[in-house]
Amino acid sequence: MWRATVLTIFPDMFPGPLGLSLAGRALASGLWSLDAVDIRNFATDRHRSVDDTPAGGGPGMVMKADVLARAIDAAAADHRPRLLMSPRGLPLTQARVVALSREDGAVFVCGRFEGVDERVIAARGLEEVSIGDYVLSGGEIAAMAVIDACVRLLPGVMGDQASGADESFADGLLEYPQYTRPQTFEGVPVPETLVSGDHAKVAAWRRAEAEKLTRERRPDLWAAYQARRDRRKKAPPDG
Ligand code: SAM
Repeated sequence: MWRATVLTIFPDMFPGPLGLSLAGRALASGLWSLDAVDIRNFATDRHRSVDDTPAGGGPGMVMKADVLARAIDAAAADHRPRLLMSPRGLPLTQARVVALSREDGAVFVCGRFEGVDERVIAARGLEEVSIGDYVLSGGEIAAMAVIDACVRLLPGVMGDQASGADESFADGLLEYPQYTRPQTFEGVPVPETLVSGDHAKVAAWRRAEAEKLTRERRPDLWAAYQARRDRRKKAPPDG
């Protein structure tokens, strides 16, 4: 079973949205497990302090290395990847999500205040992961985003496993536009190809739309996609 262990000073935030819908049903049926651990349980002073003033001065507080290390050692002493939610980390990608979903689970360390003492990052081998170039007030919402992205890929969670392979980023492209009934909405019809019943034409239309959207909206993804395509063209045929 895929096991998520979340280290946080706000364990009551969990499961939160992860207890509803797809992830919630999968949690209830035992396809994954969630353990939210209160970092304060590993403080040793009578105030249960998890933070202290920054060395060198400056605003805010920093999470203490010793308290966090004890929490990690007690709650997550196994081989699962240990992620520190951090705006400094590598931005999360669908490729990383796929890899994480194939592990036995992951450990999520949620920062607060100005962040965590640098020494615990190296000492406990934490991989810094960002969910985007903006600053949240804590790592909990970031951890929920990563967990949600992983859980939906676990076998048995999505009704139609193909939907995981056929969506944005799966092959380096954004997803093509989607339509459903009614056939005409405020005078705009569903594109004719999609109701033609010709599967090859539908596939070609979707691929062309996905390429167009990616080119227009995400030049970074488009360049990587083209480079991969060029490499494949140059590679000698198998056999
Ligand atoms: N002082 C830090 C900085 O400038 O990089 C920001 C600290 S932020 C207020 C507190 C915590 O929220 C971080 O330690 C991290 O755990 C989490 N966090 C904030 N933004 C995030 C992001 N974009 N991705 C992942 N975690 C984030």
